[in-house]
Amino acid sequence: MSQGSPLIPFGRGVLVTGSERGIGLEAARVFAKAGCDIVLNYPGQGDCAEREASGIMAEFGVKACALKADVAVPDQARKLVQDADSLLGGLDIVVCNAGICRFLSFLEISDEEWNAHIATNLNGSFYVSQEAAKIMVKRGSGGRIILVTSVGSFRSNPTQTHYCTSKGGQNLLMQGMALELAPHGILVNAVAPGWIHTDINDASSKDPAVTEPWLSTHCPAGRLGSPSDLGSAFLLLGSRDAGYINGSTITVDGGWSAQL
Ligand code: NAD
Repeated sequence: MSQGSPLIPFGRGVLVTGSERGIGLEAARVFAKAGCDIVLNYPGQGDCAEREASGIMAEFGVKACALKADVAVPDQARKLVQDADSLLGGLDIVVCNAGICRFLSFLEISDEEWNAHIATNLNGSFYVSQEAAKIMVKRGSGGRIILVTSVGSFRSNPTQTHYCTSKGGQNLLMQGMALELAPHGILVNAVAPGWIHTDINDASSKDPAVTEPWLSTHCPAGRLGSPSDLGSAFLLLGSRDAGYINGSTITVDGGWSAQL
């Protein structure tokens, strides 16, 4: 493991879903920096993910590869986990990060959009984390599962009813797994980001007419977050040191959700 990090990852094998960019890539990089081998995952074209895997190997001297799978499709999601376990020689830490968010007013949410958000954000987390838990339980050496939820998992937001419903479901999925998997040494927690500037919200993040009123009224930190703001939360929840943190959420939102 790398020198200078006070936190020791729970194990060496890490799978992060939806990790070709954004928050997922940050999670992968932070574990690679700490000495872990990484499986990245992408749902479409693989060029970007394969480039990132090569970059991780060159920069951190660990193993890394990229596997294509749509986590909303049960067979693909479960095969992704099985393949990652084989490639890594054991799966120790799984980050369920893959997610979508399209902004739609409640009256305009189509059945297709509703189902797509539930399928990717909630069902995908279920398929991946259940398959990982089965493998970890069988092996008997424990593990860490981290769900990337959202501040929108606690309270809803206009134009995000479908998204927040999927994220609220992830919260209860996380808690249910935490209750049942702890006896197997598998701890399950969540990271709940606030407004982090990534591709998912690039247009609004670049629009001062949208960001300035929000920053002045909703964000005590006075700035949008960036994926690097989340690295320490992933590392903590994936660490050997965090042996008694289970069923918890670390909110990383600059204070947004702290206000009434
Ligand atoms: P992003 O769009 O940059 O990343 C999403 C990733 O998920 C991409 O790599 C994408 O390819 C992947 N993905 C999408 N559908 C997939 C599927 N079916 N199968 C596999 N991979 C799939 O956005 P991000 O902000 O980095 O989002 C990452 C996670 O963080 C999401 O779960 C999102 O809901 C959550 N989140 C983001 C914010 C924010 O402000 N950016 C806030 C709260 C929560």
